[in-house]
This record gives sequence, C-alpha cells and structure tokens, in this order.
Amino acid sequence: MDERKTMTDPDCLFCKIVNCDIPSEKVYEDASVYAFRDINPKAKVHVLVVPREHYRNVDELARADAQLLAHIVEVAQRIADQEYDGSYRLVFNTGEKAGQTVFHVHAHVLTGEPLDE
Ligand code: ADP
Repeated sequence: MDERKTMTDPDCLFCKIVNCDIPSEKVYEDASVYAFRDINPKAKVHVLVVPREHYRNVDELARADAQLLAHIVEVAQRIADQEYDGSYRLVFNTGEKAGQTVFHVHAHVLTGEPLDE
C-alpha cells in the first residue's frame, strides 16, 4: 500500500483544479502531474503544467523532488511536440515581484506559433 501522504492545500486554486473541484481544459495527466489550458492565454497554445502535490514555487519543488521537476520539463516537451513543432517557452514566475499570483508551482508552456523575443 502506498502510505505517502498527498500534500494538498484546501485553499489553493490549482489544488482544486487538480482534484477536479474547479473545471479546467485538461491537456495531459499522469500519476504525478496535471496539465491544463491557461484561462488567459499569452500565446496560441498556453498550457500550465503542475505537480499534483502542492509546492509553493519551483525552488521549493527543486529542493524537495528534483525528479518531479525534470518530469514537468518532459511533459512540456511532449505538449510542444503534440501541439506544435517541438519549440516552446517554459516560464516559472517565482515570487510576487516576478508576477507569481498562484502559489502552487506551475510551468507556463507557451507554444503553437513563433514567439516574439
Ligand atoms: P500571472 O497571473 O502573472 O501569470 P502566475 O505565474 O502565478 O501569475 O500564473 C497564474 C496563471 O494561472 C495565469 O496565467 C492565469 O491566467 C492562470 N489561471 C488563473 N486561474 C485559472 C483557471 N481557473 N484556469 C486556468 N488558468 C488559470
């Protein structure tokens, strides 16, 4: 039996999305991550990839589970392969002053068209 506790914050928007308490347009999911379309897209394809477990930001995730962070990068590539030609921009806003508004780590995957620099 897997006795690992799942870390979930009941007040967190993305925990609610992962748990399907709030609807989202799912793009990909597996045992450890969930990917869905951003509600306010900044590119033709704008997908958020989040771990099912709650970590506040990418630094917290990297320290706790580097393999899971690497998996998020693999999933980003898979989405860019499926939805475009494999090119993509990966963004982790970290901290309020960098524009982070949802404090459940998420990779912004921007793809689907040529991107401005
Ligand atoms: P920012 O809002 O500055 O991009 P973040 O990096 O924290 O800050 O990103 C949060 C992202 O979550 C935003 O791109 C926002 O459009 C997206 N978002 C917020 N609510 C939802 C939702 N219910 N479904 C999908 N995406 C959402």
